[in-house]
Amino acid sequence: MVGGGPAGLSAALTLQKESVSCLVIDYRQENSFKPGESLAPGANFIMAQLGLDGIPISGYHHQYVGNNVVWGDTTPRERYFLNEPYGNGLHLNRIVFENQLFESANDRGITILQQYRIKEISETTDRIFIECLSPSGDCIVIETDFILDCSGRSGIVAKKLGIKRTTLDHLASYHFMITQPDAVLNGMTYIESVEDGWWYMAPVHDNKTVVNFMSDTDLHTIRPDFFEEWLSQKLSETLHFSSLISKDAFNTLIHTGIKTATTSFLDIPGGNRWLAVGDALCSYDPLTSFGITNALTSGHAAAKAIQGLIQGNATAASDYLSGQMHLFNKSVTMLQNQYRQEQRWTNEPFWKRRL
Ligand SMILES: Cc1cc2nc3c(=O)[nH]c(=O)nc-3n(C[C@H](O)[C@H](O)[C@H](O)COP(=O)(O)OP(=O)(O)OC[C@H]3O[C@@H](n4cnc5c(N)ncnc54)[C@H](O)[C@@H]3O)c2cc1C
Repeated sequence: MVGGGPAGLSAALTLQKESVSCLVIDYRQENSFKPGESLAPGANFIMAQLGLDGIPISGYHHQYVGNNVVWGDTTPRERYFLNEPYGNGLHLNRIVFENQLFESANDRGITILQQYRIKEISETTDRIFIECLSPSGDCIVIETDFILDCSGRSGIVAKKLGIKRTTLDHLASYHFMITQPDAVLNGMTYIESVEDGWWYMAPVHDNKTVVNFMSDTDLHTIRPDFFEEWLSQKLSETLHFSSLISKDAFNTLIHTGIKTATTSFLDIPGGNRWLAVGDALCSYDPLTSFGITNALTSGHAAAKAIQGLIQGNATAASDYLSGQMHLFNKSVTMLQNQYRQEQRWTNEPFWKRRL
């Protein structure tokens, strides 16, 4: 597995359970910020399948009980998960969650090469080679039967093999994290559409809230030294959102940043000796809240495909890929329907391109 995020570790946990020997290579710096904190209720099923339903929640993550949405008109609408098949989701402390996945893999005897960086990928007819740099700068070559590219949106294995990515939009997250009591949002994710995008915010941990303005990068030119003022100005233009954030929040900013959040997929998603998984294969608009759940599910499915190949099922890899692409196409259609429910700004570029 190249990449030790939710996709890579889900695949490793599944392979290890099936007694297929595997290794995870990841270059993540410990405790680095990663966007994505709302684990949808649908993830409960795959978490249980992976034996991750016992990870400690209390004191780290919070119950994610529903959404408060202003979309299509000015009325906030609340939807609780209580009566849904999988119950509540979680608002994750993402750093802790990633560490918990690492620890679960470690505890089950999976080898993880941490802070190793991929340099090259090469193939012969019957083997594939990964050349990587260790934290101390040594170059090592790993020879393997099969690679799962679980490296997120960077899709590093595919990139090294010269494969391109198709991107369907220019969506990015302009985000910041503030200190405010968890009780303000009370376990809800808040979403509000505006004329050039939409906002969402969620409580994360230790009385911190992450706030994201989602918009297309080509619609804004922002001077880096003016970023906070720009965000603050954009926030003040919202109808309900701004009232949930205290006026002096911008004095206590913990983190600010811009991250790509495009919907995209790999033009060639696998070969004889590799398959793409999770965000590396298809990345989802955060409006779907599907990214982490998809990464876990897709990692599990890819590992099952490898097991199928070992057992002589020649179509296991292509069956896996068609299943993933079917899911992606279905999600794109659902996403279009969601965007089309907002008809107030149909002449504005952000919405016009999503009609
Ligand atoms: C703004 C934003 C908000 C989001 N909000 C949500 C949300 O609320 N809920 C949700 O479910 N999803 C959300 N997502 C999506 C979610 O975070 C991703 O879908 C999910 O992290 C994908 O998991 P992954 O394992 O495929 O990739 P990643 O989590 O990106 O993991 C990839 C791993 O590969 C490693 N890696 C990358 N390159 C290399 C390399 N060259 N060598 C070695 N290792 C490498 C990285 O260190 C990383 O650990 C959001 C995404 C964005 C951008």
